[in-house]
Amino acid sequence: MNKTKVWKVVTMGFVCAAFLATSQAVYCEESGHGGGHGGGAAHAAPAKSPTDTVKMVIKGNNEFVAQHNAQYFEPFQKGQTPSLIVVGCADSRVHTNLLGVDPTNNVFMIRNIGNQLVNAEGSVNYGVLHLPNNVLLIMGHSSCGAIQAAMGDYSKETEGIKAELVPLAEPLKVDTGEGSFEARWAQNIERNVDYQVAYALKLYAGKIKDNSLVVLGAVYDFNNTYGKGRGSLVITNVNGETNPNKVMSHPALKGIPVNDLVAKVGSLAPDTAYDPALAHGETPCSTHH
Ligand SMILES: [Zn+2]
Repeated sequence: MNKTKVWKVVTMGFVCAAFLATSQAVYCEESGHGGGHGGGAAHAAPAKSPTDTVKMVIKGNNEFVAQHNAQYFEPFQKGQTPSLIVVGCADSRVHTNLLGVDPTNNVFMIRNIGNQLVNAEGSVNYGVLHLPNNVLLIMGHSSCGAIQAAMGDYSKETEGIKAELVPLAEPLKVDTGEGSFEARWAQNIERNVDYQVAYALKLYAGKIKDNSLVVLGAVYDFNNTYGKGRGSLVITNVNGETNPNKVMSHPALKGIPVNDLVAKVGSLAPDTAYDPALAHGETPCSTHH
């Protein structure tokens, strides 16, 4: 290869890299902190090349196969027996490892942008109505790009993305636009969780009534917005109840030590701030948000 050819190949490489970067800017779900949506915001380069990513998948699966014998897979042929169904965001920062349990055969997981039951009703119906699951967890998370996008102009996004962002307008209706963007963003993440829980309550009213299903709303708080520690899964809603004092004394959570609940239950709504006196079974008096 002569020098001219080498230069051409190098140039082509740069052009391809630039094109890939542009494609990712348009189609990537999450933008960085404070980055806009709809206008092709700049994104950090991926940590790996496509080849390295495929290598990672092959190597990882080879290790998985080596670590699991035939016995491990035997029960799977008879079906699945999860107890927890999770509707989470597709965001790569959010995975079931934050729950500290082996998700295999334990967690029926549904993911999309903005952890929306409304965009995955069939899958959630399957998990709730045809599998042994008894807890439905709607799991929002810090710095959710879908919520951020829904707060701005996403008219330049693809039809597919727009269709999945449109339903977020409903929970975001109560956002008055007052306060910092960061504060509104965090509150809207919680509002969306509440909205998805409310939607579940309508779909599965019978199962909730006969106590065969509990619907939990929570936010995986890696920003420590709730002050429970980075990485905490903060429970913000139980069967539609969002007042932390009432959540902690909710019959669905009976038997869970109060200290565990105090560490996990929270709310960003100022009128429902945690009151330890009320958490111990006294009559709550603060208003519902
Ligand atoms: Zn998200």
